[in-house]
Amino acid sequence: MNTQVAAPAAQGSAQARWLAASAALLLALPLLWGAGFASADALHDTAHDVRHAMGLPCH
Ligand SMILES: [Zn+2]
Repeated sequence: MNTQVAAPAAQGSAQARWLAASAALLLALPLLWGAGFASADALHDTAHDVRHAMGLPCH
C-alpha cells in the first residue's frame, strides 16, 4: 500500500481547515466581545432586527 500519494492532499486539507478555523475565530471573537459588553436591550433589539431581516413572522 502506498500512503505517500495521499499525503500532499491531506496536508493541503489540514492547512485549509486551519485557515477556515482561524478565519471563523477572527470573525467570531469581535462578535463575542461585543455581545459580552452590550446591554440586554441592545441584544434584544439586534435579535429582533435579525428576525425581521430573515423574513420570519414576528408581530
Ligand atoms: Zn418584530
